Amino acid sequence: MPNPKQKNNNSSKKKKIKFQTVRGMRDILPEEQIYWNKIRKAVDRVAVDYNYGRIDTPIVEPTNLFERTTGKETDVVKKEMYKFETQSGKKVSLRPEGTPSIVRAYIEHGMRTKPSPIKLFYIGPMFRHDRPQKGRYREFFQFGFEAIGEQDPILDAQIIQTALRIFSSIGISKTALQVNSIGCQECRPNYDNLLVSYLKNRKQALCMDCKDRLKKNPLRILDCKEEKCTQVVTQAPQAVDHLCPDCKKHFIYLLECLDELKITYSINPHLVRGLDYYTKTVFEIWSKDDEEGRVALGGGGRYDYLVEKLGGKKTPGVGFAAGMDRIVEEMKERGIKGAKTSQPKVFLAQLGDLAKMKSLSIFQGLEKAGITVAESFGRGNLKTQLKKANQLKVDLVLIMGQRESLDETVIIKDMTGGNQEVVTLGKVVIEVKKKLKKIKKEVRVK
Ligand code: AMP
Repeated sequence: MPNPKQKNNNSSKKKKIKFQTVRGMRDILPEEQIYWNKIRKAVDRVAVDYNYGRIDTPIVEPTNLFERTTGKETDVVKKEMYKFETQSGKKVSLRPEGTPSIVRAYIEHGMRTKPSPIKLFYIGPMFRHDRPQKGRYREFFQFGFEAIGEQDPILDAQIIQTALRIFSSIGISKTALQVNSIGCQECRPNYDNLLVSYLKNRKQALCMDCKDRLKKNPLRILDCKEEKCTQVVTQAPQAVDHLCPDCKKHFIYLLECLDELKITYSINPHLVRGLDYYTKTVFEIWSKDDEEGRVALGGGGRYDYLVEKLGGKKTPGVGFAAGMDRIVEEMKERGIKGAKTSQPKVFLAQLGDLAKMKSLSIFQGLEKAGITVAESFGRGNLKTQLKKANQLKVDLVLIMGQRESLDETVIIKDMTGGNQEVVTLGKVVIEVKKKLKKIKKEVRVK
């Protein structure tokens, strides 16, 4: 028999659990949303202007989608992916980036039959189990633009132009664009060999990770941030010097397009981007005064073999992704304001249970007429409600007390002039509209 006393004792000792977001993930609270809304609005507007259609793909994808595309040996896939098995034993992952899913969708929905290029954009969370630090999260948000089906370097220039246009419409105009070309299947193997033989002779000076990369992913050594590795690669052969004629022509044309668009850039011969699928053009956009260890605002490049790698017909593509968390940080540092929110012009105050109930339908009527109304339904005290109305600096306060609720009327108090009027419930919306219009006119005249 369990001892009831003991049972009581145990439950009283139960530890209180404090629930928190998991490490590297966070809540984005209402007061933060103005920044995120500004980014979303800019993305939506530029997408319309440049003819990109929105696509949403699942957060969970087969693990081998990323192994095949992003690359088995990349940090993103090898070290940072959230991998798990479903109840039926399928290997799936939380997406660490967007491009593989977009290309999967391109093939899955037969988009090849439509006029090319197919232009798609996305916004959503990505997941990487990296070491969390300022600006680096395990759940973070990206928007990305992909143009699939066109080989011409003009598309590379246009995708860079699109990215910069989004940044500038958010208010981030001063950025630093870095570009590079890492060649194609024709010229890259030759360059890889040159690079490996240069690095092999200096293997002892490389960090442990880069020693490993030497066999599996030598190009990544070029953008290793370890001091000893950056020293070694300063004299390393550069991909741009070993491009095949086609890649060279492509790169030169891209630079000419950027000149034509008056987009300032620097060629960074060590820029390779961390993912396997890039060919020819790669680029990154940085804030002008970035601190060491920060992530770029965004980056992208060309991926001419990616569709083929996922079982589709050979189809070129180019795209970019930008980090929204990083952009919000940048907006705050530069003192850029978030999106404007519509401030309520009307406050609805009520006194007594009947008035409270009737206020619900007044609120609905005004809201349906497109008038943003603030209220404080939870509070019974008229004084506190009016205090709140004052703080919100509304133009009109509607008051429904006990008497008004019985008479089916409302008092409309003009906070700009001080006068007030009693109107019947059926006329509230029309009267409020009239008064708001009048106040707006008076403000304009002043
Ligand atoms: P990537 O897919 O690595 O090219 O990343 C594109 C952009 O996403 C970067 O330039 C960053 O702005 C952002 N980003 C990448 N990883 C993270 C992360 N762990 N936390 C926050 N933002 C990130």
